[in-house]
This record gives sequence, structure tokens and C-alpha cells, in this order.
Amino acid sequence: MSFDSLNLHETLVRAVTTAGYAAPTDVQQRAIPPALAGQDLMVSSNTGSGKTASFVLPALMRVLASRALPRPPRGTVAGPRILVLTPTRELAMQVAKAAMDYGRFVPHLSVCTVVGGVPYGLQLKQLRAPLDILIATPGRLIDHLESGKAVLGNVEMLVLDEADRMLDMGFIDPIHHIAKATPKARQTVMYSATFGGHVGRLAEELLRAPQRIEVSSQTEAHADIEQRLHWADDFQHKNALLDHILTERSVDQALVFTSTQRDADWLAERLGEMGHSVAALHGGMPQGRRNRVLQGLRSKHLRVLVATDVAARGIDVPTISHVINFGLPMKEEDYVHRIGRTGRAGRSGLAVTLAERRDSGMIHRIQRYTTQRIATTTIAGLEPRRVEPKPAPRPAPGQGAAFARPGAKPFGPRPGGRPAFKPAGKTFSKAGPRPR
Ligand code: AMP
Repeated sequence: MSFDSLNLHETLVRAVTTAGYAAPTDVQQRAIPPALAGQDLMVSSNTGSGKTASFVLPALMRVLASRALPRPPRGTVAGPRILVLTPTRELAMQVAKAAMDYGRFVPHLSVCTVVGGVPYGLQLKQLRAPLDILIATPGRLIDHLESGKAVLGNVEMLVLDEADRMLDMGFIDPIHHIAKATPKARQTVMYSATFGGHVGRLAEELLRAPQRIEVSSQTEAHADIEQRLHWADDFQHKNALLDHILTERSVDQALVFTSTQRDADWLAERLGEMGHSVAALHGGMPQGRRNRVLQGLRSKHLRVLVATDVAARGIDVPTISHVINFGLPMKEEDYVHRIGRTGRAGRSGLAVTLAERRDSGMIHRIQRYTTQRIATTTIAGLEPRRVEPKPAPRPAPGQGAAFARPGAKPFGPRPGGRPAFKPAGKTFSKAGPRPR
């Protein structure tokens, strides 16, 4: 299928062609036609699937159509025709950028973001000016609604992006309040990883005869990647598991992820002292050094790379046989980005996650996001002593994240801090029974 066959305005087809897109993605093919027909939609599709364009392009079609209508009298505040709600400021900025990119040939397009952490002044000015698309986080938009500065009476299309995350963040009341301030006859499209529980109830309340669109998860597309999970009792156990895995003969090249730059440096140093050909790769390193490290990986001078999420984006080295999550990612979508570094170019790959008990909240969120269970595995002699954490029960209506434990702090500092670095890896290098 081509963009031409989607009945989009010529300026939009030109913009996506300029952006280098050859054909619409799966979610775009399935969501754009009903969205153009004015249907309400419930869409499950991950970041990276092209979901932003799947609602931004239909939104821009409405903006283009509005250009033929009489303009509101000067001095009146009309408010936006399109309102997009996102859970975070970063996502709002990304959507705004997409709207500007895809709308680059739309005459006088005006896109505005209203997010927290930014002074009110400029936002107030933009809200009064002619406005096509407003992208907002619910908290800040509520402030402007309550002060009477945001006018939502002309909204034709309401988009809830990452609705499940917005509800996890406790935005249920602001969302209801905002939706009430928009016309009943609007079109509503909702994007969410799941539509169970409280997200489903919100959909029932806000959508009319919605069409459900499910695009298979990204990990399903990564069918060549086997995923495994090892539960570790503590940090020392996690190190012992890593050391064992890295000595396996099946490891061609391994990409080990840590949560922070400091951990990447620390772990690369420890593995280096154990005799691995290893380097760290993170955003704190000068670009020249990063390039040399990547070169070392491609030329196979390096067998192990210890990296952070940001630095590892876009690494495409087909000989990476193992991705090892030593520190868990901050966001579940980063897990998908991480494991996608292996299993490339028709080879199979192994993605191993080492988790401590305090990581169980994130493990559940990853499993929910990918809609897959990660099989738990043990290594003989290195079995965990503690029992595997159980999935938390589904929350009662109105409660937070489906799997989040109350007060869970998956990324908090280790109680008692990190054990001092022990040189030469004598403590950790044996795969035999751990000292108990
Ligand atoms: P999203 O899932 O909306 O975050 O988009 C993920 C990435 O895919 C973005 O970098 C887009 O620029 C890109 N993208 C969106 N649609 C297409 C397409 N039809 N062809 C190629 N890339 C696309």
C-alpha cells in the first residue's frame, strides 16, 4: 500500500515523502482510513510503530478542511480544532514535532504545546492566538481551563495518546474534566497498550461505537530473539550470573545494558579486569571515543560492550548474539529497543534480563507492554535462594498501574549502597556454587 491510496491531501503525502517514508506502516494503514471517516478508535500500537502519524495525519486533514471555512471574527478566541493529551512533556514535544513535520506544507499551521515545568506566560499568549492543534499534558491544561484561558469549545478531534500511562499517573479526573469541556459531537481516538480495567472503562465513557485496532507487539516481530529472565538475590548474585553467562561459548558478542553511565564505567572496568575484551559506551563519552568503541565492536576487537540506553540506540551489529539487561531500563519501551539489538540479519539472539526483587514492578510493566511473559531460567549452582516474586494482583477500579506495587521504587539506590569494586574479579568469576 502507498500513501497515495490513503486519500490524504497532496500536501501531506508530499510531507511524508519528504520525510523519507516509502509506505504507511501497519498501524497507519489500519487507523488512517477509519480516522478520516470520523470514527472513534481504540488503538493498541507501540512506540516505534508509526502511531503518531496515524493520528496526526487525519488531524491535519481536519486542519486543511478548516481552511475553507470562514475565519472567526478578529479578537475572538476560537481555541484548537485538535486536542492531543499525552502523559509526559517529552511525548507532547515529540507529537508537536511530528505535527510540524507532517504539516510542513499546510498553510499557516499553528501547533502549540501546553505542558508542566514551563512558564505560563507564553502558553497564555499561544492559547489566545489562532490555534489548530493543541498538545497538552492533562495537569497543565486543567490549570488553564480552570483559569478560563483555554477554550476547548471548537475541538473536533480529541486524541488520548498512551492513555494507560496517563491513568497510571493518576490523570483520570483531569481527563474527564477536559473531555467535558469539549463538544460531545467530537471524534475521539485513544491509544493505549491495553484496554482492560480502568482504561477500558474510560474508553466506554469517552468513545462512541469505537473501532478496535490492534497492531501486533514489536517483540512478536522479534521472533528470532529468545528472552530469558534470571532472578538474582542481590547485587553480588547478579554479578555472578553475568560472569557465568559471559563465559558461555555461544556468546559471539554481548551488549550489556546498565541503568546509568556510572554503572557502565564501573562494570566495564570490572569485566576488563577479569580479562574480557570490553568497553563502555555512554552519552558522557566524547563522540570520537564513542565512534572508536563502535568500530571496535564491528571489527570484533571487542566482545563485550557495556552501554546505556541512549548510547546504544541505533547500534546495528549483526554479530551481537546476546543482549544482557544488567540494569533495567527506565521505560518499558526501552526494553524493546534493547533486545532489538540482537537477532538481526536473520540470526537468532538471546536477550537475558537479570532482575532483583525490587525490579519486579518494571518486569511486570515490560511483560504487559510486550504482551509476553519472559520465561524464568536458572543456572545450576547459581539458583536464587529467594522465591520468585509473584505478579501483583490487578488493582481495584481507580487504582494505579496494573502491576505496580504500592510504594515500589524499582530504581532507588541499593540499600547499603554498591559493594566496593573488587579487582581481578576473583569474587565473581567462578560459576561454581556461590559462597553462602
Ligand atoms: P512513532 O511510533 O510514531 O513514535 O514513530 C516511530 C518512528 O517511525 C518515527 O521516527 C517516525 O518518523 C517513523 N515513521 C513513522 N511513519 C513511518 C513510515 N510510514 N515509514 C517510515 N518511518 C516512519
